Amino acid sequence: MSPDGREVRLALPSRGRMEEETLEFLRECGLEVRKPGPRRYSAIMPGLPFVSVVFQRARDIPRSLSSGDVDLGITGLDSLEEARAGGMFGITVVHEALGFGSCRLALAVPEDWADVRRVTDLPGAPGAGRIATRHPCLAGRFLEAAGLSGFEIVGADGALESAPSVGYADLIADLVSSGETIRENRLKLLEDGVILESEAVLAGCSSSLETNPLVLSTACTMLEYVEARLRGRDKYLVFANMRGCSPDEIAARMSGRAFLGGLQGPTVSRVLGPPGSGWWAVNIVVPSSGLYEAIEELRASGGSGVVVTPVRYVFEERPDRCARLLDFSGRRRR
Ligand code: AMP
Repeated sequence: MSPDGREVRLALPSRGRMEEETLEFLRECGLEVRKPGPRRYSAIMPGLPFVSVVFQRARDIPRSLSSGDVDLGITGLDSLEEARAGGMFGITVVHEALGFGSCRLALAVPEDWADVRRVTDLPGAPGAGRIATRHPCLAGRFLEAAGLSGFEIVGADGALESAPSVGYADLIADLVSSGETIRENRLKLLEDGVILESEAVLAGCSSSLETNPLVLSTACTMLEYVEARLRGRDKYLVFANMRGCSPDEIAARMSGRAFLGGLQGPTVSRVLGPPGSGWWAVNIVVPSSGLYEAIEELRASGGSGVVVTPVRYVFEERPDRCARLLDFSGRRRR
């Protein structure tokens, strides 16, 4: 239990773009985080009253999950996989693709290494060079799989991209998002040098999920909101009016049109105007990529007065991930 008496401890990334993107994502999911002050390392979530939030460096979160110091956490897949590659266990992935924090862990060498474009162009002999990284286990494993055993791995904490120009390493393995930092530091990515594709994940302490029903139910509640939000993202709810004799006739006019299928088909309901006016209201869910086409198709089917509003959530059956989590926890308890 956390010092504030809340029973479920959730760790969130404490710095930079991961913190900002995580808080924004949770807010979008309806799981707003309230921090009492910008410098405070704890917070609450009004939507999840049992949860106490602690902020930690993304790469420290796997350790806290493994030790049971926190019950749930959001971190980058890169941090989780690095911890696992280093032998850390007892962490269960609850959702493996939250759709933000996307980046690649990749090898970069100085731009002026003209003959080095691919991993196999790197020297393989002992004493080949020093590689600066915050992911020594993943980078070491990758180099070994590529048959390169001669590199010395140099741990680093600050800005890795400057390591080759400062001189404490020859190349780096770092997270790359836009690639701007790499270019600014006169480095280049190797064509086949991607060690891991990463994004934010929601993970849990396996033993907390197993033994504390409140942790399990919080993980499932978070999953419900997250999945419903990810499903609702990039979708619009479109309303239109149409004249016709019956819902079936309206549906027949819309059928066969590529963008008017909705989730399960259109909903058609009577507009309660003067008797015999024959107006019907149609509503459908449309992906944002096909919004304009859907409006054109509605017009071609006789639709008018089209109103469009963004979708916040689409809740379906209970998520498979929830069922798997409950099953995992039940099996471990038996
Ligand atoms: P960029 O210039 O957009 O390629 O970003 C590179 C810098 O941001 C490097 O210092 C990376 O370590 C850091 N970075 C990029 N993406 C992420 C991420 N998803 N999580 C944490 N750090 C990141």
